[in-house]
Amino acid sequence: MNEVADLLRRLIRLDTTNPPGNETLAAELLRDYLEAAGVECRLYARVPERANLVARIPGRDDGPSLALLSHTDVVLADAGEWERDPFGGDLVGGEVWGRGALDMKGEVAASAVALASLAREGWRGSGDLIFVAAADEEVGAGFGLQWLVEQHPDAVRADFSVNEGAGDRVELGGRVLYLCATAEKMSSPFTLRVHGRSGHAAMPSIADNALVKAAPLVERLGTFEVEPQLIPEVEGFLAALLGEVPPPGEALARARAVAPLAAELIEPLLGLTVSPTKARASDKRNVIPALCEITVDTRLLPGQSPEDAEGALRDWLGDGDYEFVNIERSGGTRSEIGGPLWEAVRSFVEAEEPGAAAAPLCVAGFTDSHWMREAFGTVAYGFFPSRAIDPETAARLIHSANERIPVSDLELGLRWLRHAARAVCG
Ligand SMILES: [Zn+2]
Repeated sequence: MNEVADLLRRLIRLDTTNPPGNETLAAELLRDYLEAAGVECRLYARVPERANLVARIPGRDDGPSLALLSHTDVVLADAGEWERDPFGGDLVGGEVWGRGALDMKGEVAASAVALASLAREGWRGSGDLIFVAAADEEVGAGFGLQWLVEQHPDAVRADFSVNEGAGDRVELGGRVLYLCATAEKMSSPFTLRVHGRSGHAAMPSIADNALVKAAPLVERLGTFEVEPQLIPEVEGFLAALLGEVPPPGEALARARAVAPLAAELIEPLLGLTVSPTKARASDKRNVIPALCEITVDTRLLPGQSPEDAEGALRDWLGDGDYEFVNIERSGGTRSEIGGPLWEAVRSFVEAEEPGAAAAPLCVAGFTDSHWMREAFGTVAYGFFPSRAIDPETAARLIHSANERIPVSDLELGLRWLRHAARAVCG
């Protein structure tokens, strides 16, 4: 019996669809499994049915601590779309099927088996090895890691952490790279409020139509361009891909010459991006609107602020009868590329696949990692390597029907997490 596949199958059979979550089912299973291996565990719950599990192998002294982060909730599965029961945990042809196999009960199981196996071997690091199986990542309503970081910081504080977010193996022009998410863009949407003067639609000349005035601004936003700049994550990626870092203006063409996918990966990371996505003007057909609101999805590089973005966009649009309103700002954190955790990623990749290299990546979405970076300054990476499943297939299955993971990738992930523990905790 394969220990990690077996544990994953048992986790999949617990329905932790969020909402409502019911993650206590998973937390209790993991606690029973880990306590049997002699690992100390504690459940932390804001409400009884939504527990987070924190397990720990205490360090011999106060060396560097590593947290293996994961979440136990999953998104809805519509059984009618699936070829198998999404909560059956079937093992077929060397793959475990079910909701959460990739996102992310597979990594939950591998993390738990990493702790259990190290504990059974009598391993202890210099610093703590911590396993956090959090609730409520998919909705983020304040029951999971955010709540732990705020209410129980001593339980989850760590110098380093490993989470979901990347680990894909990509072949680019004959070069094999394993991507490690070390940073994330900031989501910072704006509303562009374009002003005019209302009036009866039958007499357009006496009004000033805000919708018509917005049209050229929307068109201008659609062609937004910035001077490309190379953030450290893209420099690291290009160095792994090309063996050197080209000037910013040549980066895209050089990446494309190796493989179109390489250009796709870096293009959104060369500057802030804007996409107008929503428009609102008059509610009545016969009333000329005095106000037109255009919502603009805006993604910033780590280190950029919404104020920087507003300045760049005002320069691009020129003067006009409009105002900018920033709606929210979230994400946009980064961790250094280097140090013990980066060294662990690098050495693991080289040992698993000679000739392959680790490459940093800044991701457009964000994970629970940002709570750790913001609260504790944790060096937080998203890295759970996969090799048997290709990234395009995995991307199609996550949050979709027929989600499944090859057992060989679970074993690869388990080897990585054990390696990370030994390399980082000392
Ligand atoms: Zn996830």
